[in-house]
Amino acid sequence: MNQQDELRELIEQAAEHLRYYREMGLTHLGGQMTVAPLEASSLPVSKAATELPEQAIIASPVIEKNTSPLAAQPAINPAPVMPRKTDQKPSPPVVTSPALFGDALFTDAAAAPAPDQHLNETLADIRAELGDCQRCKLWQTRTNIVFGEGDPQAQLMFVGEAPGADEDASGRPFVGRAGQLLTKMIEAIGLKREDVYIANILKSRPPGNRNPEADETAACKPFLLRQIAAIRPKLIVTLGNPATQGLLETKTGITRIRGEFQAYPRLPDIKVLPTFHPAYLLRSPDKKREAWEDLKKVRDFLKGEMNI
Ligand code: URA
Repeated sequence: MNQQDELRELIEQAAEHLRYYREMGLTHLGGQMTVAPLEASSLPVSKAATELPEQAIIASPVIEKNTSPLAAQPAINPAPVMPRKTDQKPSPPVVTSPALFGDALFTDAAAAPAPDQHLNETLADIRAELGDCQRCKLWQTRTNIVFGEGDPQAQLMFVGEAPGADEDASGRPFVGRAGQLLTKMIEAIGLKREDVYIANILKSRPPGNRNPEADETAACKPFLLRQIAAIRPKLIVTLGNPATQGLLETKTGITRIRGEFQAYPRLPDIKVLPTFHPAYLLRSPDKKREAWEDLKKVRDFLKGEMNI
């Protein structure tokens, strides 16, 4: 690479970096460094945002606190509306044949056929089989199943924990505040939401957003594993502890394991990169810098620039 190309690449990287901070609402990088403001037309104007009390702003030693209305405003930019894929039927018929896929098969993950052994099935097949799922108690309190959405041939998948209230209401993953931050994280590495596939360990919302219980994970996770086997992404980014521990079958916590590429145990040619959950980043904005380090690894890995 000649010097000019090197310089161009450095500038590109710096611009991308700044765009990420700016989109996350960070305006100061410490010292004299500032992030160029968003165009006026893209800045939401909100009474709540302009009246954010000082104590609600969390400072970080490196990245100064966020005074931008964008950061203070939780849900202004709606996630882009993605066309419903044909494999995301809202209410597919319930499959009742116990001989084929009886409930017992999926209430005990160990007894289920390896999810990767469902050869050649499509996401639509998996969705149809999931049906109006009642394999665990969560069906009693959910509004909609949140199956997952995105490119069925995505190279990159994001896996979260479970639907929250907004996802339960809409039937789509990551559409609430955390979802909007996830969308910005995806865009910060030069992708669009519809380029990736987004799913969760659980497809039904636990009441009050409590943590998934073991029987719920055992009933639901095999469907996620089959989605992964159908999509065959190059990389899965796990968001937070339950997703990371669930997919990697480990007890190691997210703080220790984040940013380190792992092999997906069931299909080791697929890599897993754990990072913080966007909901955690909303609560702890000083962790966004580490999340950005992880996202750069995702970007470089997908560009083929990392030898894992
Ligand atoms: N949190 C998650 O883990 N998943 C969602 O879909 C939304 C919020």
